[in-house]
Amino acid sequence: MIMTEMLEILRHIPKVELHCHLECAVQFTTLLDEHRRQGIPLPFTAEADLREYFLIEEPVDDFQRYLLAIERHQVIFGDVSAISRVAEETVISKAADNVKLFELRYSPTYMSRQTKGRLSQSTIHEAVKAGVTRGVAAALNNNQDIHVFLICCDHVIFKHSPWDADGFKDSVNFALHHRADFVGFDVACTEADMNPCSPFLDRLKDAGLGITVHAESDMEPEKIRFLVDRLHATRVGHGLHVPEDSAIFAYLKDKRIHMEEAPTANVRSGEVENLQNHPIQRYIQGGFSVSINSDDPGILDHTLTDEYHVLHHTFGYDMATFLKINLLALHSSFAAEDVKQKLLDLYFVRNLKTSVS
Ligand SMILES: [Zn+2]
Repeated sequence: MIMTEMLEILRHIPKVELHCHLECAVQFTTLLDEHRRQGIPLPFTAEADLREYFLIEEPVDDFQRYLLAIERHQVIFGDVSAISRVAEETVISKAADNVKLFELRYSPTYMSRQTKGRLSQSTIHEAVKAGVTRGVAAALNNNQDIHVFLICCDHVIFKHSPWDADGFKDSVNFALHHRADFVGFDVACTEADMNPCSPFLDRLKDAGLGITVHAESDMEPEKIRFLVDRLHATRVGHGLHVPEDSAIFAYLKDKRIHMEEAPTANVRSGEVENLQNHPIQRYIQGGFSVSINSDDPGILDHTLTDEYHVLHHTFGYDMATFLKINLLALHSSFAAEDVKQKLLDLYFVRNLKTSVS
């Protein structure tokens, strides 16, 4: 089968995506267009140079290079209409990938700080919501049904600034204040002493928000135990070193923690040597609940369907495997149970029957 046919088959799979950052979802053409529209000088004129400057299309040796690419995308977010536009385009592109339930995450505190406070968290949040609403409507016009839910991220999500208690509290308070707009909260602190944060996470949990944590390559497996035990996390992003620690691996499995995996992002950032060695396979073989995610589609210039294609080629995942993964992702979504049940009936049960018969 030629590649385009396979991509078309994979594109049609109804999908659930739980881990994608708005700040890292700017499409390359939009990035260039927003530079011109906002009068921000571009560093090069040739497209190849610009791609090299803004995108991570090959694995990097140094994680800092990956963070630098993220930082280079942030300059366009000083403009409210650019924020709305990126939210809208992100939703439209996920709908085109046949994503039915999409959890989009971003950090109002981080984005506001990037503008040095010129744009308030509330202004940014309203712009995101307006963009999402427009994106959902545009998708529906195109007969694509997508349900979008927002996750509020911690302020140090991209590690451009040191962790501080005030920034963390700001993020938590914003999420609580806008409780009706968010389904979850993403904790990104890896190096900080999180003990003092515990009461804040209690409040998030009591407010009914789901809690997920970023556990990237520099997080000790023992720290993940703390995040689950004390900070109420029910989902973990990446968890790249967990399979090396059999006690933590068993602990997370026992607690039925859902793993949000984004293999291409981890390989291109240099955190995992190659796709064959990505822990997603260990998690799936170990019976974990796992989701497949694009994480930073704009930085990677990579769609969710591309991610499915990569996994199909690397591990031979077939339609039944993808269906199972999406059912687990749907189950682990922070969206309301009635919404999940409706989407299950509409888009997944029929496929389940086809795949079993
Ligand atoms: Zn992430």
